[in-house]
Amino acid sequence: MDARLGDVIDDFCVKCRRLTNHSVVSLLNGAAAKVRCRTCYSDHDYRNEQAPPSKKDLKKAELFNAVLSGVAPPPAASEETAAGTDSKKAGKKPGKRAEV
Ligand SMILES: [Zn+2]
Repeated sequence: MDARLGDVIDDFCVKCRRLTNHSVVSLLNGAAAKVRCRTCYSDHDYRNEQAPPSKKDLKKAELFNAVLSGVAPPPAASEETAAGTDSKKAGKKPGKRAEV
């Protein structure tokens, strides 16, 4: 199905972070090449309604690859920090120093 300039089509807008109505502003081989979001009026390449990978997804992929390559990611760091806080609290018991 050929698109035409000014046609309104759905596409993912990174500024709106969701699928919104877009106007076709540029064509390539009869298909939409560039579109303009009708909500925020920003132009961008037509993404075929696909959301680009988010930073979260990239981070996930990074961790996944780290696990695959045998490098342990540091998710245990938060637990160690919590344990350290507890031991510090234990050492700061009021009374002990007052006795000395
Ligand atoms: Zn938008």
